[in-house]
Amino acid sequence: MELLDGKKVSQEIIEELRLEILQRISEHKKIPHLAAVLVGHDGGSETYVASKVKHCEKIGFKSTLIRFEDSVSEEILLKEVQRLNEDDDVDGILVQLPIPKHIDVEKITEAISPVKDVDGFHPVNIGRMVKGLPAHVAATPYGIWLMLQRYKINTAGMHCVVIGRSDIVGKPISLLMAQNTQPGNATVTICHSRTKDLKAMTLQADILIAALGKAEFVKADMVKDGAIVIDVGITRLPDATKKSGYKIVGDVAFNEVAPKCCYITPVPGGVGLMTIASLMMNTMNACKMRTGN
Ligand code: NAD
Repeated sequence: MELLDGKKVSQEIIEELRLEILQRISEHKKIPHLAAVLVGHDGGSETYVASKVKHCEKIGFKSTLIRFEDSVSEEILLKEVQRLNEDDDVDGILVQLPIPKHIDVEKITEAISPVKDVDGFHPVNIGRMVKGLPAHVAATPYGIWLMLQRYKINTAGMHCVVIGRSDIVGKPISLLMAQNTQPGNATVTICHSRTKDLKAMTLQADILIAALGKAEFVKADMVKDGAIVIDVGITRLPDATKKSGYKIVGDVAFNEVAPKCCYITPVPGGVGLMTIASLMMNTMNACKMRTGN
């Protein structure tokens, strides 16, 4: 069993981007600028946004954090997105999800200019990805793809089973794994909450991607010997021994599943860190697309 080490790979990507920024500075090229919009005070969202801003600083990107209270109206949020679309210095815009229920998340997503949509949630980017055209691919699926690429795992012809069909993980990673690229060229099965006999499906997986959001749901008896297991899940469980008061677990029961695997991602230290690295790559690409270099 070998760990797919998100910490190591994401650090490599961050370092490559940092060096690219030094090069861009010496060539007087534009420095990428990421604007993050955070609504409310959800603990998870605060942590994710703080980490994104910290990574921008590490690389040398500019970043701006715009905060609103939970009570902000849809109209004001839309106006802010429009302002960021029109701000020529801003290359990437992300609105941290979830946002309060009184705001239509689709309206906000579609208001972001597709060129600046570094989260890759805009229908234009999803459509372009489906067609195999250059696009901002959602950060988590792109992070998984990059991880497989960096470990030089030849996925062609493999059977990839994805548990979960969300717009931000399950659907896009299924498409990426099926497209004619390396990584890719896999035969993909998408499972979800209405799948009959999930275990019969997961036992066929050469690559199993768990993105259902249920702590330690995938047990050893659901995994084929020698499988590659990618754990996307992030669940906070109360843990009095931790300073934070909680521990993070994935969708896979790591200790019992890992010995059966050829490769497995840990949680934390796997897909989560790759998500941030790929967001940073999308931001760099957005800047290059906008400035033409
Ligand atoms: P979601 O709730 O939008 O979707 C979950 C999917 O799982 C649904 O399609 C549902 O049909 C399926 N599902 C639920 N129960 C199931 C069951 N018993 N059997 C089969 N399928 C089942 O979730 P999401 O936004 O895709 O996130 C999934 C998990 O990934 C969450 O834990 C989330 O926190 C995590 N996540 C992690 C990252 C990261 O960077 N690592 C990014 C996004 C999401």
